[in-house]
Amino acid sequence: MLFLPHSLQLIFTMRNNFHNLIVLFIIVLFNSFGYSQSSFTLIHTNDTHSQIEPYLSINGDELGGIMRRYVAIQEIRKDEPHLLLLDAGDFSQGTPYFNYFGGEVEIRLMNMLGYDAVALGNHEFDNGSAALAKRLKKACFTVVCANYIFHNKKLSKIVKPYTIITVNGIKVGIFGLLTNLQELTTPAIFKEVTYLDPINKAKEMVHILKNKYQCDLIICLSHLGVDAAKAEINDIQLAEQVGEIDIIVGGHSHTYLEEPKIINNV
Ligand SMILES: [Zn+2]
Repeated sequence: MLFLPHSLQLIFTMRNNFHNLIVLFIIVLFNSFGYSQSSFTLIHTNDTHSQIEPYLSINGDELGGIMRRYVAIQEIRKDEPHLLLLDAGDFSQGTPYFNYFGGEVEIRLMNMLGYDAVALGNHEFDNGSAALAKRLKKACFTVVCANYIFHNKKLSKIVKPYTIITVNGIKVGIFGLLTNLQELTTPAIFKEVTYLDPINKAKEMVHILKNKYQCDLIICLSHLGVDAAKAEINDIQLAEQVGEIDIIVGGHSHTYLEEPKIINNV
């Protein structure tokens, strides 16, 4: 257990038997009327890359795949009624499912799993903004990305900079960040968006979520990369520069963390 500022305690539990899932138990202590305590469970995934079917390890064991993820989440839901399910992007691209069905399979299955909020990864743009808007229209979850202007009108209507979800009385503000697409996509697709500085946007989001909406907890769904050296800004630099974020759920760099990194109390 780690004791953090603004009356937030996080209990980190990595459940190794659930591949691809990170589970955090979060306790928030409220100061307003003496101390009262509330908690919820956060499950997050990232970079699932159209892995609909399981793949085989070198030992021949099945790993990953959407059905295994579904069963694992359902099992946790049975014990943990107050739960947030988040994804940090790049749920598209990587198997023939994406090539044949253009990403719709992933969205429909994520609906089935009951995702609450999802960030955009660079690979979500692989078929362009119009195709992305068409399939995100079918999403039952909120898609967040704060540091881009989307020139495709349908996409700009669907993607929100942030969302606020109250879980077990805890008001959770969730905003999204995406790395610079310039080197990661074609010039034609990059023209469909305008990239904005992630640090400035993160500060703006924290200000809105804390001061305007009085959120108890701020989560950044980041597709900047945990320690991506090539990225202009990665999650470590974000944590160093925007300490008001409570939790960064990161994707993109495929970094396996044995345990969460704590930097600047983030
Ligand atoms: Zn990525």
